[in-house]
Amino acid sequence: MAQNTRPKILIIYTGGTIGMIENQETHALQPFDFSHLIDNVPKVKKLDYDIDNIQFSAPIDSANMNPGHWAEIARSIEENYDKFDGFVVLHGTDTMAFTASALSFMLENLHKPVIITGSQLPIGEVRTDGEENLITALQVAAATDSNGDPMVQEVAILFENYLWRGNRSTKMSADNFNAFKSNNYPALAHIGLGMAFHEENLYRSPSKRPLKVHYEMDPHVMFVELHPGIMEDTFRYMLSAPNIKGIVLKTYGAGNSPSEPWFTAAINEATSRGVVILNVSQCVNGGVHNGLYETGKSLSAAGAISGNDITSEAAITKMMYLFGLGLNSESVKTYLGCVLCGEMTI
Ligand code: ASP
Repeated sequence: MAQNTRPKILIIYTGGTIGMIENQETHALQPFDFSHLIDNVPKVKKLDYDIDNIQFSAPIDSANMNPGHWAEIARSIEENYDKFDGFVVLHGTDTMAFTASALSFMLENLHKPVIITGSQLPIGEVRTDGEENLITALQVAAATDSNGDPMVQEVAILFENYLWRGNRSTKMSADNFNAFKSNNYPALAHIGLGMAFHEENLYRSPSKRPLKVHYEMDPHVMFVELHPGIMEDTFRYMLSAPNIKGIVLKTYGAGNSPSEPWFTAAINEATSRGVVILNVSQCVNGGVHNGLYETGKSLSAAGAISGNDITSEAAITKMMYLFGLGLNSESVKTYLGCVLCGEMTI
């Protein structure tokens, strides 16, 4: 960015509580248009930035988010990439961590900030957290380092006091203003009286090539979560769901699962059919350590692969991305074991 120019930021408004107002008849919250949202934050106009906006034709509750919407956000970023210094995506909190993870894979060679934020209370409410989140997200998107390059060059979630790596984040609370956390990776910045960036934690793409957007996200994936008493019939039924190519298996603790022969046989049969099974821990902190216990060893012996300390959100979207590239099961397995954009620690 040249010196003495105002930062140019594009806001992409998708919906979510931040822009919702109460329906007078049903009293339920429903998404409203961008002008309503921005009219409630006159302070935005005080920032010395050039701010433009794009909004979904019909803003949505993020429970309705799907890969088509991710493509729409990615397209808005691609089409405006050269015109803006940074991007702020306003999004509902419910699936924000999935969108952040998906975009991190879809936006290859990203060298500009994509800051996702939202709020727990609508922006029109007196005690809203939306105003502060929006303003701070804009400031994070405009921040530069000592070379004048964008401080943040990745997809990140800004919420209340923290900036987190998007593909490491999880929604932790339906009530607290500090709703997000990256349980296996430190904060990228701490927001208090000032904004303190932890530069050593920021991601830098090793490639200097131009942005490349991957629009195809293959939805033929699903979660299967273990619980004590899970029945063989039910488990086999889930593993043989029609057209499923990949399963994120949510296991206990350090990646453990029942050691009963029927369980291992069912995993073996699924992986032999070419279904990719990624072992991810149900714990939000820590990850899979294959071989720490006997109960964990049998899963890898049956062909499941370790998700290490990846979040569930990053695991399922990484699978969608890899199958979306048209890769076969063997290649998908190989790439699931590699760090693509800071989403796990090996
Ligand atoms: N249901 C809302 C959404 O995710 C919740 C929120 O924004 O906090 O769109």
